Amino acid sequence: MNEMPGMTATENETRRGTPGESFSASASTAATVATPGATPPRAQELDGPRDEAAAGEDPDVEILNSHHARVGSFDVRRAIPQRARRTIGAWCFADHMGPADVTEGSGLDIGPHPHTGLQTVTWLIEGQALHRDSLGSEQVIRAGELNLMSAGRGVSHSEEATGHYRGTLQGIQLWIAQDERRRHEAPWFEHHASLAQVELGEGSATVFVGEMGGARSVARHDGDLVGAQVRLNGVAHVPLSVGYEYGVIVLEGLISLEGRELGPGTVGYLAPGRDEARVTSSGPCTIIILGGTPLDEPIFMWWNFVARTRAEIDDAFDSWRDDDGRFGRVASSLARVETAAPYWRARDN
Ligand code: MN
Repeated sequence: MNEMPGMTATENETRRGTPGESFSASASTAATVATPGATPPRAQELDGPRDEAAAGEDPDVEILNSHHARVGSFDVRRAIPQRARRTIGAWCFADHMGPADVTEGSGLDIGPHPHTGLQTVTWLIEGQALHRDSLGSEQVIRAGELNLMSAGRGVSHSEEATGHYRGTLQGIQLWIAQDERRRHEAPWFEHHASLAQVELGEGSATVFVGEMGGARSVARHDGDLVGAQVRLNGVAHVPLSVGYEYGVIVLEGLISLEGRELGPGTVGYLAPGRDEARVTSSGPCTIIILGGTPLDEPIFMWWNFVARTRAEIDDAFDSWRDDDGRFGRVASSLARVETAAPYWRARDN
């Protein structure tokens, strides 16, 4: 859903990033990249909100600001990737979409576009959208349901208006980087209308991928990671896996995460080593919790592709441009999404 026409921020991030296009989770923690000749940032900017932690707040909760982007007719808040943090476990992309008004005939309106080496996880908290893909899938997704598409070696899809729904649309579009075992496999799509839930104090979690607090999603689950929605009005102790790192993304309301205030447009990051997180709110709120084992292999993201090398990206780009069959066809009336050649070869095209 988030994969928009033209240059994506994923691509921008890659361009702006530290030297070399690949990045690894361990290399992604450098929060500031020095620009020659630029005015040195003040210490507060270098260290970020950690400096501002007051008594009773946990200074080890890292708070990152999402950045704004435009996807089709939608405003999105992109939580990852960003320079300060590329990935959370294998989660490598997170766009909070909307809320925005859609009609029967106009919604996300993202035409057919390709993916490799990743899984798209679509989760709505309001409204409906229609997914079509090159496997022949045509699936309406409603709030509280899961669309999970595993791209493997290549798939294409569109995200469209439903033809019947009019109202507010809001959700989150996520990507999971597939590991070496899975990223060359055939594509796969699955939809789940019913997902495991678990009560967490004055809140409840719906687990869409992986397991949390004994609730396990029925969805395909290739690696050590979890994704869940938590609805809360009060206090919850969220069970964590000690070996996972976590990101907490607020979609609605205001929360306190281990004493640190978070609202929409921010991400709270927790490094591995915790078995629980205390989350409180003074009103109703909806948050997304992403967790997983920190990536131990570098990944290379460009446009809608997750790969390891420039050569792999070049191959995928050529296949999409030439429509050589690798990405199949989507039965969509929307126009294909095209993009310029990768920047390292732009002069050759
Ligand atoms: Mn997509």
